[in-house]
Amino acid sequence: MAVAQQKRTESNPWRTAQHQFDEAADILKLDPGLRKILREVQREFTCHFPVQMDDKTVRNFTGFRIQHNINRGPAKGGLRFHPNVSLDEVKALAMWMTWKCAVVNIPYGGAKGGVIVDPYSLSANELEHLTRRFATEISILVGPDRDIPAPDVGTNAQIMAWFMDTISMHHGYSMTATVTGKPVEVGGSLGRADATGRGVMICTVAALETMGLKPFNQRVVVQGFGNVGSVSARLLEEAGCQVVAVSEDYGGIYNPLGLSVKKLIEYRAREGTLKGFPGAELVPNEDLLKIECDILVPAALENQITSHNAAEIKAKLIVEGANGPTTPEADEILRNRGVILVPDILANAGGVTVSYFEWVQDLQSFFWSEHEINARMEAIMTRSFKEVLAIRDEQRVDLRMAAYLLAVKRVAVATADRGIYP
Ligand code: GLU
Repeated sequence: MAVAQQKRTESNPWRTAQHQFDEAADILKLDPGLRKILREVQREFTCHFPVQMDDKTVRNFTGFRIQHNINRGPAKGGLRFHPNVSLDEVKALAMWMTWKCAVVNIPYGGAKGGVIVDPYSLSANELEHLTRRFATEISILVGPDRDIPAPDVGTNAQIMAWFMDTISMHHGYSMTATVTGKPVEVGGSLGRADATGRGVMICTVAALETMGLKPFNQRVVVQGFGNVGSVSARLLEEAGCQVVAVSEDYGGIYNPLGLSVKKLIEYRAREGTLKGFPGAELVPNEDLLKIECDILVPAALENQITSHNAAEIKAKLIVEGANGPTTPEADEILRNRGVILVPDILANAGGVTVSYFEWVQDLQSFFWSEHEINARMEAIMTRSFKEVLAIRDEQRVDLRMAAYLLAVKRVAVATADRGIYP
């Protein structure tokens, strides 16, 4: 296969997702009928919708909402605003949400949505209009009992507030449980903003323990300094690790003696970028993943660890903060090299776990303390990590396959129990 074509095939997230599922289905000897159901998404919705820009011109945007499987409960998953959003990407992300909710055993199916847009190129007014119109387009699918969106790449608590308000306006009353990741003032949950990064930290510490290591002085590289990357870096530093490099989309900054994450966060809040952070050198994106370190946390986008760079990664532990950062080809290289990898569907499940708590609190109109939320999340993450570890040791597979075996089996049992309608 020509190199360009191989890169294209390797980097298609839907192919990655189906490949991972097929491998698990083979080991589970999944019934052929169930296999046909689970390797496809159940519903895929595409819309094209207009937004009037500030200069009164009209732009037509394309958005998606995909539900992969809803046999374990209502569909759950984020909304992504990014210029590279595609149907195949959103399908993969929806399938990964199904497995993620099943790994941590929360009563949801999997979904994802996205709009092809660079949200940073829009004014606040344009972003609000885009969000409200997209919410209206997908309102035929969403609702507290049906499909509950949340933040993802390029979206945040403010966007979730606009989304919730739009659906509420359609119904004539506040429907806070329609979406999670909202500001705390309008039914959001304490601890939600940090939840994904906190889960990454919990999984990192748990994985180190299995390797007979402690967090103290472990050198960490974090790719991506958004919500997941920055919180993971901060909490790993608090746990005793030394963060040596972090990155944004243009590249990263590196200091082999360690960076202060607190100062990085302050600097970025002030300057809007990490570029120019004192005492650190700039590294191009291609080199970031190859930096000398103990732990690598990819917390940006899909397809970052591929057959082209997996052999050069120095970390002995990879914890996937992002969804789908590693291709199947890279997985094999890392496995053969003995690198331990905590897969996305386990490592970043802290976010959707606290989303579940937010939904439960909204439905009950009864709110919990941050301590209670963090403690319950930690209990779920630790239990799930142990369950995955036990399967790894019993089946002699890697952690990704172990997580898949646990998740696919749970979803397959629910799907078989419910049977085929009519
Ligand atoms: N977008 C996040 C994820 O990929 C959170 C989803 C949610 O909370 O529903 O897990």
